[in-house]
Amino acid sequence: MDCIFCKIISGEKKGRKIYEDELVYAFEDINPQAPVHILLVPKKHIPTLLDLKEKDKELMGHLYMIANRLAKERGVADRGFRTLINCNPESGQTVYHIHLHLLGGRMMHWPPG
Ligand code: 5GP
Ligand code: ZN
Repeated sequence: MDCIFCKIISGEKKGRKIYEDELVYAFEDINPQAPVHILLVPKKHIPTLLDLKEKDKELMGHLYMIANRLAKERGVADRGFRTLINCNPESGQTVYHIHLHLLGGRMMHWPPG
């Protein structure tokens, strides 16, 4: 499968790994939009949020638990941080392997652009 995030997870493509367990892989975004910009991806290839199945509920909860942990480790938990998942073209999704953005280390704006 020609998926850039699957290649990063398998080691075929280089990524700056931050965390890995049996379900999740986290790495630095190549084009960071904040001082902290981490991508958390399920190792399982799921293209978009809309492709989630009932059986993926635990996996997605786990993804958020790891996001909490990494936010604390990076020192942005108390200051505040943002997590988001883009879904389909109008959201700005460009990589079709579901990923949770963890952004922090600067003031965030609302509404987002
Ligand atoms: P999306 O727009 O799909 O929500 O987010 C895709 C993210 O993946 C973007 O923030 C982009 O900078 C990042 N990205 C795209 N290609 C690569 C890559 O090869 N390596 C890394 N580390 N990040 C990537
Ligand atoms: Zn993939």
